[in-house]
Amino acid sequence: MSTPAVPTQARVVVIGGGVIGTSVAYHLAHMGVRDVVLLERDKVTSGTTWHAAGLMVTFGSTSETSTEMRKYTRDLYARLEAETGQATGLKQVGFIEVAGDLDRLEEYRRVSAFNRYCGVDVQEISPAEIKQLFPLAKVDDLHAGFYVKDDGRVDPVDVTMALAKGAKMQGATILEGVPALGVVTKNGAVAGVDTPYGTIACETVVNCAGMWARQLGAKNGVNIPLQAAEHYYLITAKMEGIEQSWPVLEDPGSYGYFREEGGGLMVGMFEPVCAPWKIDGIPGDFSFGEIPPDWDRMTPYLEKAMARVPKSLEVGVKKFFCGPESFTPDLRPVVGEAPEVRNYFVAAGLNSIGILTGGGMGRVLAHWIINGRPDVDVTGMHIDRLHRYQANPEYRRTRTVESLGMVYQCHYPTKSMTTARDAKRSAIHDRLVAEGAYFKDVSGWEGADWYAGRGQTPDPGPLSFGRMRWFDTWRAEHQAAREGVILMDMSFMAKFRVEGRDAGALLNQISANDVDGEAGRITYTQWLNEGGTLEADLTVTKLGERDYFVVASDTAHRHVETHMRRVFEQGHAFCADVTSAYAQINIQGPRSRALMQAVTDADLSNDAFPFRAAREIAIGFARVLCVRITYLGELGYELYVPTEQAVHVYDRLAQAGAPMGLRHAGLKALASLRMEKGYRDYGHDIDNTDSVLEAGLGFAVDLKKPGGFIGREAVLAKKAAGPLKRRLVQILCKDPEPLMFHAEPVWRDGVRVGYVRAASYGHTLGGAVGLAMIEGGDSVVDAAFLGTGTWEVEIAARRYPALASMRPLFDPDNAKIKA
Ligand SMILES: Cc1cc2nc3c(=O)[nH]c(=O)nc-3n(C[C@H](O)[C@H](O)[C@H](O)COP(=O)(O)OP(=O)(O)OC[C@H]3O[C@@H](n4cnc5c(N)ncnc54)[C@H](O)[C@@H]3O)c2cc1C
Repeated sequence: MSTPAVPTQARVVVIGGGVIGTSVAYHLAHMGVRDVVLLERDKVTSGTTWHAAGLMVTFGSTSETSTEMRKYTRDLYARLEAETGQATGLKQVGFIEVAGDLDRLEEYRRVSAFNRYCGVDVQEISPAEIKQLFPLAKVDDLHAGFYVKDDGRVDPVDVTMALAKGAKMQGATILEGVPALGVVTKNGAVAGVDTPYGTIACETVVNCAGMWARQLGAKNGVNIPLQAAEHYYLITAKMEGIEQSWPVLEDPGSYGYFREEGGGLMVGMFEPVCAPWKIDGIPGDFSFGEIPPDWDRMTPYLEKAMARVPKSLEVGVKKFFCGPESFTPDLRPVVGEAPEVRNYFVAAGLNSIGILTGGGMGRVLAHWIINGRPDVDVTGMHIDRLHRYQANPEYRRTRTVESLGMVYQCHYPTKSMTTARDAKRSAIHDRLVAEGAYFKDVSGWEGADWYAGRGQTPDPGPLSFGRMRWFDTWRAEHQAAREGVILMDMSFMAKFRVEGRDAGALLNQISANDVDGEAGRITYTQWLNEGGTLEADLTVTKLGERDYFVVASDTAHRHVETHMRRVFEQGHAFCADVTSAYAQINIQGPRSRALMQAVTDADLSNDAFPFRAAREIAIGFARVLCVRITYLGELGYELYVPTEQAVHVYDRLAQAGAPMGLRHAGLKALASLRMEKGYRDYGHDIDNTDSVLEAGLGFAVDLKKPGGFIGREAVLAKKAAGPLKRRLVQILCKDPEPLMFHAEPVWRDGVRVGYVRAASYGHTLGGAVGLAMIEGGDSVVDAAFLGTGTWEVEIAARRYPALASMRPLFDPDNAKIKA
């Protein structure tokens, strides 16, 4: 065999010739980066791609990014053959998701409303209509189907070949039989890729190595905590009456999907309890490989699935196939520039939807690499949301048992992952257990969601889209914050100490607000990119000259840290992650001053300790950083307590608070309280695509501060472009009954103008409340626009009267906060 001719240089090296790698190469080349080399260890498609079932479905996600990627992918696959001469096997035979129980009916009604907002043509159809489209299906126990007539299936190998051919036609080089041995770095950035045939010097690497991506990343310290798992489908012998033209049928309640294959039926599976494969690492020579199927484990699931098409039980089995696919801890892909190495991009961990999102994924990545930042919301899939402990073998072995099965579970809004729990506990965890805390997974931390009460065992009851058993408890915690005083553990927040000669100047350079004023003050600020859109939303507290404390949400932890570190390279500033060094205990509510004053001698009067004051105070034997600030719209204090003194401080607070009616409040209450006030949460209701002005955060931007800040010019340009036609606003459902969670379309005068990005229940306002980005089209989105027209919010296929507001619906003048 001749030695492959490996170039010595390229602008971008893509590692991996599956659907993702070829799509990235295709899009880079199409967007003008022709100097792309794709390295494939063996043959293109030889990893996971070759054996995919090829479902091409646009229905089913409440993520705008995922839905847009699916739509783009389907359109791309429809035009690739004309461009490349290589067929993709796309058959737009349609797709039906069936609802076999009322909760799934509610879920799919909610999802379909959102998908329609995104331009997916999905129709709710009756069981009889399902039967007409898929005559062999048993439908007597179904409530409805959700039908997308333009969806269907593709041939994954043909799609990948077409992408590879399209990439080559635009000048990209695709090398088979050339493994990437490792990535060469210099000064923390990519410098090249080693192969057995020489090193390719390059600016950028994209690790698209599928289930090998974790091992490859680890060589450079890049954390990609994905794990391969067994993934199955069965193909029956030929079946009488089955037609190629039938739609793909999916019945998550029976763990199965069904489509014609070779005159028989393909029965694909997502079993609820699944099996990780090769925790210790994927063999380097595993090509076009299969895993011996585990009949014993799978038979009960198979029987349940096949019962949806009863005739399938009567014919023989042609093939029971098991192949590995990569799954991630939260069932979202791992995408973007790695925090550990500059210009090291990753696109892996596709969680069994790599074919149907692959086109869009390649486009997003190519845009990101070429333009320096993505043009879609990537907060949910960014590699930097993941933490290093998640790559531990025990974590992967434990969590992966749950993740594949989640694909087909009913996606209840309050469901938390149940595996790999108790990995991170706050220092006062045991005290909260004693108060009856119900915990959920908060970036791996055990976060108290609500409290059953002292000595009680919390029982959330069955999951539901309606009011859960703890609704009244939640309301009581909410009311206690509005009327009395509450204690909330938020130790999971990301905390950083920033020091150095240039710390103030560099923090001010990345902050849109002025964070370098007087010492002893906290400042709420956004960090922007050059485009004026959001990178972070956090607080900076100036403790002293050259000494700052940065606090961000748990999900933004590594993003914020990376952003800071990269800017700090320009001067003398250093950040230390002190998340574990401090517990965070929040005391909030109109009686919070009285409680705090009972545990400290420090003068906390309004004059001595005004809103935004930050000072070290004494509580018992502890020194505590006390900051007068709120994320729920009340007079309140956030206490940063050295971890080893957290229990001591907690006990003092609990003891002093008892006669004042101190109540423990959980994260459910935090969500409802902050939502009434319209406070933003990055990654939930604001993201990297929003300009700071559209996000309604212009009040926190200091355009006049000396030296400016990153993104200032873009903010000025946005201002100069005139009044905003897109704006984040609060939406209140006027009917107190229905609940909103996320993705509910908002209508004005019978036209969809946006959707609710995040929501909760406003116990004080008396209805579900959320934040929605409103697209005004030709109209300016201002108070007049919001105050006129008929506003409605669509919840599970019904439209309810709503109120839209730019000013916070609760305490718009901040009177309570400054009391
Ligand atoms: C049974 C089954 C059914 C599925 N059905 C569907 C479906 O219906 N629809 C859908 O959308 N998805 C489906 N999927 C998922 C889909 O197949 C995957 O998400 C997708 O193929 C992942 O593509 P990839 O490019 O990330 O990985 P891969 O296809 O595994 O590509 C990675 C490539 O990297 C190469 N590589 C690894 N290490 C190196 C190295 N060091 N140097 C060079 N090359 C390297 C490998 O050889 C491999 O070719 C299914 C998966 C399975 C298992």
